[in-house]
Amino acid sequence: MKTAISYRGIQTVFLDRDGVLNRKAPEGEYVSRWDLFHPLPGIEEALHRLNVAGIAVYVVTNQRGVALGLYTTRDVEHLHARLQEDLRAHDARVDGFFYCPHDKGVCDCRKPKTGLFEQARALHPEIDYATSLMVGDSVSDIEAGQRAGMRTIFIEGEPERQKPGADRGRTLADAVSTSLGAAVELILRDQ
Ligand SMILES: [Mg+2]
Ligand SMILES: [Zn+2]
Repeated sequence: MKTAISYRGIQTVFLDRDGVLNRKAPEGEYVSRWDLFHPLPGIEEALHRLNVAGIAVYVVTNQRGVALGLYTTRDVEHLHARLQEDLRAHDARVDGFFYCPHDKGVCDCRKPKTGLFEQARALHPEIDYATSLMVGDSVSDIEAGQRAGMRTIFIEGEPERQKPGADRGRTLADAVSTSLGAAVELILRDQ
């Protein structure tokens, strides 16, 4: 059992995408188009609650499928625009999307590296990692957040779709939640 940590003072929440906002594709498959994007239950309400609390929300996602030639950066951006539209209809929003289109080992932005956070901070200089939280379903999400000095929450996904190493993510993270909605509950409870 983990010692409960406080989420008091959180001003920025970074979210992984696949497995947090939408159902993760089976390992080796990619969510390249809107019709493959299956939102997880309760994400609109969870995002709305963060929006109303004045907590900024940024999506940070590895999209290696671009480097593999399976889809393009345009496809990624189109999907994010479509998601934003869908959220708007539910009175919710994401404040920015940042993605790594690169292959393994060739860039500074593929999580567990911290370049996506740096990109967000370049655009939004008010971001302070000490008051930021990373929410993800992979060990690389948790490692990235911890390298930057953030608090972390691991989202427990469907066991058969978890990446290798997910157990380590669960162990490393400050807390474990079953969904974004449950994570937001933890965050807001402490404000
Ligand atoms: Mg994920
Ligand atoms: Zn990258």
